Amino acid sequence: MWRWYELLPVVDPDHIVSLGEGDCPLLRLIRISRKLGLPYLFVKDESANPTGTFKARGLSAAVSKAKELGIRKVIIPTAGNAGGAMAAYAARADMEALIYFPKDTPHANIAESRMAGAQIVLVDGLISDAAGVAGETARREGWFDLSTFKEPYRVEGKKIMGYELAEAFQWELPDVIIYPTGGGTGLVGMWKAFQEMESLGWLKNPKKPRMVAVQASGCAPVVKAFESGAAFCDYWVHAHTLASGLRVPKSFADQLILKDLRESGGTAIAVSDESITKAQHELCENEGIFSAPEGAATLAALEELVRRKWVHPDERIVLFNTGSGLKYLDHGEESSRAQAGCASPPLLDGAP
Ligand SMILES: *Cc1c(COP(=O)(O)O)cnc(C)c1O
Repeated sequence: MWRWYELLPVVDPDHIVSLGEGDCPLLRLIRISRKLGLPYLFVKDESANPTGTFKARGLSAAVSKAKELGIRKVIIPTAGNAGGAMAAYAARADMEALIYFPKDTPHANIAESRMAGAQIVLVDGLISDAAGVAGETARREGWFDLSTFKEPYRVEGKKIMGYELAEAFQWELPDVIIYPTGGGTGLVGMWKAFQEMESLGWLKNPKKPRMVAVQASGCAPVVKAFESGAAFCDYWVHAHTLASGLRVPKSFADQLILKDLRESGGTAIAVSDESITKAQHELCENEGIFSAPEGAATLAALEELVRRKWVHPDERIVLFNTGSGLKYLDHGEESSRAQAGCASPPLLDGAP
């Protein structure tokens, strides 16, 4: 990611805290592409990032800038993956890390954060409840808050996905980008990147992608606001979905997300947990990509967009797989068993 150093906020390169994030592959889908009749279908596969998700990009940028600013203690409320990424980069930067997770966060996030030496607090509630407590602790004890959009640097790290895409498409942007939206950092970041590239004169053609925000039907505040024409999102009550990264009842940047979707001529779409699980199997069975449920949600959304004829066979379409399925084994295993019609895993007993 840091080969785009001039476009990132760190002034002195000695302050860069990197684990080799970014430059993840843009893979062409082969069998799914044929099934859907979309010959130019791609996945930007972010699962190869350190800590297994694209959260590494934002936290590499944020922790680097925090280091440059002389900050020693960082705090974050998180739905899971941002916490794991912050813990890793804070460890490398020799900073103290304090993380507030909802208590039912995927186990991998808690394990990786503990392993990196972060202090952990489990909150009985959602990321929004965790944010309340973390904010109070930050003010009381002088921690620097790395919450989504409450500092300006995570979005800078995430915007580099837009540059990588432009480069891969030889500076002619794809037609449609389908993005699983929680806090919206990547969506807002890429849209910012496209505008920067335009003012830098790097684009061969000023046409920008239609941005699609995908959410889970159990937590779809952006979809609801987009459809009703609202400028803000309402807080989504009783948010639930197995795609923990999408369990964000209200993004701090809701206004920006909605503005960028509309400016791009895009849309917002909600998909059920069942269709997410089905798409996760499809991606892995047909293409060998074991995606995070959030990534699979983009394929489920694409199938719906094909039904609505919102996408066309001559368009270049990019799905975002934002993380690795390996981070969700606690529920992934349950869903595979349910799909295979097994009540419980096979038991190995000592009997001959
Ligand atoms: C955080 C997260 C998202 C949502 O990303 P935003 O840019 O905050 O909208 C999607 N997928 C995964 C795996 C995540 O961890």
